[in-house]
Amino acid sequence: MSDSDCLFCKIIAGEIPSEKVYEDDTTYAFRDINPKAKVHVLIVPREHYANVAELAADDADQLAHMVKVAQRIADDEFHGDYRLIFNTGLDAGQTVFHVHAHVLTGEKLDE
Ligand code: 5GP
Ligand code: ZN
Repeated sequence: MSDSDCLFCKIIAGEIPSEKVYEDDTTYAFRDINPKAKVHVLIVPREHYANVAELAADDADQLAHMVKVAQRIADDEFHGDYRLIFNTGLDAGQTVFHVHAHVLTGEKLDE
């Protein structure tokens, strides 16, 4: 999939509206449209990678940065605990092929 066809590239570019939670030069975070927890935020690199494996291979610093952003969101919106999920591949439930970290927090989560 090319960037021009990518839903999250369009969200990052502001072509599709989203509820911003955090942004910096490399990274954008916004609320999931179909939240699975009281707080459900998606963190994406501005640069397009299909999945976390591609990101980790090319830019491990960006991946580490996304973890720090997740912590910051959990600190801001809860008391710092959170679940971080990268669905990777169709059979894992990945539906958008622009790497994104799901941050679930804001309440005690089911195990
Ligand atoms: P995946 O299943 O690929 O791991 O996660 C994709 C996530 O993107 C889903 O949780 C879904 O609810 C969310 N999502 C899909 N389309 C939109 C949208 O247009 N806006 C927002 N904010 N979230 C979306
Ligand atoms: Zn993209």
